[in-house]
Amino acid sequence: MSAGLNLAQQEAVNYLHGPCLVLAGAGSGKTRVITHKIARLIQAGLEAKRIAAITFTNKAAAEMRERAKSLVGRGAKDVLVCTFHALGVRMMRQDGSVLGLKPQFSILDSDDVTSILKDAGGTTDAATARQWQWGISLWKNMGLNAAQALAQAKDDNERVTATIMQRYEERLAAYQSVDFDDLIGMPLKLLRDFPEVRAKWQQQLGHVLVDEYQDTNATQYELLKLLVGERGRFTAVGDDDQSIYGWRGATLDNLRKLPVDYPNLKVIKLEQNYRSTSAILRAANNVIQPNPKLFPKTLFSELGEGEPVRVVDCDNEEHEAERTVARIQSIRANGLAQEWKEFAILYRANHQARVLEQALRKAQIPYKVSGGQSFFDRAEIRDLCAWFRLWVNNDDDPAFLRAVTTPKRGIGHQTLASLGVFASQYKVSLFEALFSPSLPSVLNARAVGSLHEFGRYVNDLEYRARQTVGAEDAKTFLADWLKDIGYEKHLVDSEENEKVAAARWSNVLDFCEWMAARCGGQIDDTAGVTTANERKTMLEVAQTISLLSTISEREKDQNVVTLSTLHASKGLEWPHVVLAGCVEGMLPFKPEEDGGPASEAYAQRLQEERRLMYVGITRAQRSLVVSWSKKRKKGRELVAAQPSRFIAEMALDKTTVKEDPREKLKALRAEFAKKSADAAAAAAAAGTP
Ligand code: ATP
Ligand code: MG
Repeated sequence: MSAGLNLAQQEAVNYLHGPCLVLAGAGSGKTRVITHKIARLIQAGLEAKRIAAITFTNKAAAEMRERAKSLVGRGAKDVLVCTFHALGVRMMRQDGSVLGLKPQFSILDSDDVTSILKDAGGTTDAATARQWQWGISLWKNMGLNAAQALAQAKDDNERVTATIMQRYEERLAAYQSVDFDDLIGMPLKLLRDFPEVRAKWQQQLGHVLVDEYQDTNATQYELLKLLVGERGRFTAVGDDDQSIYGWRGATLDNLRKLPVDYPNLKVIKLEQNYRSTSAILRAANNVIQPNPKLFPKTLFSELGEGEPVRVVDCDNEEHEAERTVARIQSIRANGLAQEWKEFAILYRANHQARVLEQALRKAQIPYKVSGGQSFFDRAEIRDLCAWFRLWVNNDDDPAFLRAVTTPKRGIGHQTLASLGVFASQYKVSLFEALFSPSLPSVLNARAVGSLHEFGRYVNDLEYRARQTVGAEDAKTFLADWLKDIGYEKHLVDSEENEKVAAARWSNVLDFCEWMAARCGGQIDDTAGVTTANERKTMLEVAQTISLLSTISEREKDQNVVTLSTLHASKGLEWPHVVLAGCVEGMLPFKPEEDGGPASEAYAQRLQEERRLMYVGITRAQRSLVVSWSKKRKKGRELVAAQPSRFIAEMALDKTTVKEDPREKLKALRAEFAKKSADAAAAAAAAGTP
C-alpha cells in the first residue's frame, strides 16, 4: 500500500485506530491519502461496507470510487463514497421514521423552496423569498431551529425571517418534504436525540474519511462527531488556505476544534507538492502569504522551475477570450499538450463563460462547462438556433418541431402528430409534408392553413436572410423577426419570475448582437486563420451557427477543454490553466459591498477571495496564464477595469511572472493555422480521411 506515497503520506495511511488530521497545502496528495487509506483499511480487515468516505461533490465521489476500485478491485464497491448530503439521505431513509418522516419523503430543490416561502410569507416577490431562503439556510447550517433563530435575531428583518422560518418548517413537515440543509440537520438530530440510532450508526461505521475538510460547516462537524463517537476513528484531510465556502456557512473553527475535542488527534503535515512547477507554486504562495496563518505550512515542488506565469492584458472581454483561445492553440501546436482535456479556463462567476464559449466555438474547440450551464445550451438560445437550423436545412425535423411550437402559434400537438404520421408514410421531412397536396386528406382545413402559413413564413425568412448583409441590416432583420414571432412576450408569458424572463431576454439580445457582428465581419469566422473582414449574409452566419451547435455532440467523448468557476475547480488539476477575468471587482469580488475597505466584513471577505485565487493558481500543473481586460461588462454597460491586486502580489518576485506581449497573438494564430494545415495535408497524403 506504500507504493507511490511519501513517508508522511504513509504515516497517515497506516494510522488506523484513532483520529487523524492531514493538514497540508494544495497538490500535496491529501486526496491520494484518502484513496490509499480506503485500500489500507480493507487490507487490514475492515469490511468495505463499514468504510465511509465523504467528498465535496458527487463528481469527486465518482472519481474517488474509481480510484479506490483501481487500488483494491471489486472489493471497493461496497465502500460508501458520497457527499455529506447523500449520506444524510441514506440515514434518513433508514431511520427518519423516528422523526415522523416517511421513507419516501421528497427532497425540495431551490425553486420549490422559493415558492413555499412565498406562500409562507404571503408575498409574490421571489427576490424577497430568496432573501429569506438565504437567511434560513445560514441558520440551519449553524444548527439553529426557528425558535432559536428568533431568540437570537438582531433586528426586525431577522425577526420576520425567523417567524417565516417557523411557518416554513410546518409546511415542510405537512408535505413530508425536506430541503437541502435538512439533509445534514435532520441526520444530526437523529443521532443526537435517539441513542439507539446513534449506537447503530457508530457500530456500523468502522472508519470515516473526509476530504476538503476545511469547507465543512458547523452542523457537518457535529454530524461527524456523533458518527464516529468516542473512538473517533476518522481521517480528515484539508487545507485552511483553500477554505472558500465561508459565504455558505463553512467555518475554519472546525479545524481549530479538532485538537480540542480529540486530544489524541494525530496531525500530519505534507510538504511536497506533486502537482505544480516551482514557478506556479511560488505565485500561489505569494498570493496567500498576506493572509493570517492558522497553521504554518511550507510547500515545495521537485518538478522543476517551469515556465513563468504569464500575465495577459487585453482590451475587452472578447479580446481576452480570443487571446485565451490563441494561447491554447499555440500550446497544442508546440506539442506541449496532446489533448484538449489538458486545458481548463477558470473564472469567478458563471456569466463570464459566455464570451469564452463563443470564442471556443468559433475556433471549433470542443469544451464543457462544468458546474454551470453553457450559454449555448440555454433554452432561449436553443430556441433561436432551431429557427436558424430550419432555414439552413428545411428537412431538420427536430428543428422544425421546436420552431413551430416556440412561440406557440396555434398549431397543436394533435396536428403535429398527424403531420408526423403523414411524413413518415411518404418518407418525407415534416417541412416537405406540409406542402403536400394530399395533406388535406388527413388534416382539417384550419390546421392545413396554419401549417402553410408557418411554411411560407420560414421560406420568406430564408429569402430575406439571404438578402441581409452587414451588421446594421442584420440587426434590423433579427429585431423584426423576434417581433414577428413575439419572442419577448413568449418569454414573459412562459416565465413566472419577471427577473428571470428579463435575464433570458437579455441573453437573446446578446446573442443577436453577436450574430450581427458576425454579419458585419467584425468577428472572424475562420478559426483564426485570417482576420477576415468580409461582410456576410445572415444566411451564411446562420449556417455556421447551425454547424457550431453540433459541437456539443463532441463533448461526449470528454476530450474537451474545461470551463469552470473557481469554486467548482476545487480539488481538480489540469496541465494548463487560464485564470480569466482577473480584474478588481470580479476577483476580489465587489469588496465595497461589505461596508467599505475599513470594515471587518471586508477584511474577512478579502481573505476568502485570496484563498479563491490560491485555489485557482494551484490547479495548474505545468503552465498558468492569468488574464484581465481593461474594460468589462457590468450589466449591459462597458466599464473601465483595473487588474486584480492579486496579479501584482503574484509578481512579487520577478522570475515568477512574465507579461505576454500583444503582438504575439497574431503570430501564435498563424503558427497554429500553419501547423493544422500541415497536419491536415500530411493526413491527406497518408490517405486518412
Ligand atoms: P488539493 O489541495 O488541490 O485537493 P491534494 O492535496 O488533494 O490537492 P492530490 O490531488 O491528492 O492533492 O494530489 C495532487 C497530484 O499529485 C495528483 O496528481 C497525485 O496523483 C499526485 N501525487 C500525490 N502524492 C504523490 C506521490 N507520493 N507520488 C507521486 N505523485 C503524487
Ligand atoms: Mg484534494
